[in-house]
Amino acid sequence: MAFGDESFLDLIAAWDGAGVVVHFDQPTGSWIFIAIHDATLGPATGGTRMKVYSRPEEGLRDALRLASGMTAKWASVDLPFGGGKAVLATPGPLEGRERQGLLRRYGALLNTLDGAFGTGEDFGTTPDDMLEIASVSGHVVQVHGSAGGPSDPGPFTALGVFAGMRAALEQVHGQSSLDGRTVLIQGVGDVGAPLARLVSNAGGSVLLCDIDSDLAFALSVEFGGSVVKPENVYRTPCDVFAPCALGAILNGSTIPLLQCRVVAGSANNQLETDQDAERLHERGILYAPDYVINSGGALAFGLIQLGAHDVEVLETRVKGIGGMLAEIFADALVHDVSPVHSARRRVERVLAKGRG
Ligand code: NAD
Repeated sequence: MAFGDESFLDLIAAWDGAGVVVHFDQPTGSWIFIAIHDATLGPATGGTRMKVYSRPEEGLRDALRLASGMTAKWASVDLPFGGGKAVLATPGPLEGRERQGLLRRYGALLNTLDGAFGTGEDFGTTPDDMLEIASVSGHVVQVHGSAGGPSDPGPFTALGVFAGMRAALEQVHGQSSLDGRTVLIQGVGDVGAPLARLVSNAGGSVLLCDIDSDLAFALSVEFGGSVVKPENVYRTPCDVFAPCALGAILNGSTIPLLQCRVVAGSANNQLETDQDAERLHERGILYAPDYVINSGGALAFGLIQLGAHDVEVLETRVKGIGGMLAEIFADALVHDVSPVHSARRRVERVLAKGRG
């Protein structure tokens, strides 16, 4: 069977998660998938993604993969939440009453789970969508910006990536300074733009790449950097390559092209296959595991959910991602393995403690 041809049953049978809710929303022709991967550390908590897929099975695949990633992310930051994710796979973009109807029916579906899954924003959903769901369900865990708190996880995620990048530079060059280093950022959106600012303020040079070339150009002017065309992004020399746009961009075709010592970025599921971690390791490129280095937004909003509101406290905790990665890199060096293995062992330890 070719990759991408699996049926719902194939995908669910191959998954190691706790359970999946599959629901068809007849009024809009949308599929709703709520994937609960592991509730060892606490109630499954993850974003709700709304997206148009070529096949609904692709939406289910996304939900399953992302829910597993959330288990690893919560365990990495050791917060009492479990791995889960929801996907609303719509047949086309939904607006107005149709969108409102789907979100409210989704909220009613969440209520039937009685707290087993709590959700927030993700790709394709907005703060207004969360308010819509929250109008019928108590299982929206954090409406960003409520009670005057921070409204956007992107800057926290960027801060965590920046801290992780410094830890990687320390491991590779013996000093964490960005001074004289060049960082190539693929995707300058909610995370990539604040990351560019952090790098530039720290004395680093930025190379910016985005399919929105106007955006890349405007930011390059602001930060004194240069623009790299998307077709050249993997072969452009740099010290750090920071993927902050798409998943699966590290693979058998792109890894041989890379001309960097470090890959440290925010994108989810950067490795196309497990083998790609070995490819990077063999090439001597230090890879910061995505679910650790991009956990800043989840960490900050998880802490808010648990009652922490002081932005300085949140930022200090997010900067701690650098320390976590330093430990992961050091362990990987000792065992001569990819940091992916060390990060995985760390997740297993936290989950085992939770089970115990
Ligand atoms: P975003 O949509 O705000 O920005 C993504 C940017 O990437 C856009 O400017 C887009 O034009 C650009 N882009 C898309 N395809 C591209 C390509 N082929 N080449 C170059 N640029 C391309 O998204 P974001 O919130 O900044 O998130 C970026 C990545 O980080 C995503 O993979 C997301 O899942 C992940 N992530 C984000 C957060 C967060 O807090 N926002 C947290 C964890 C992980």
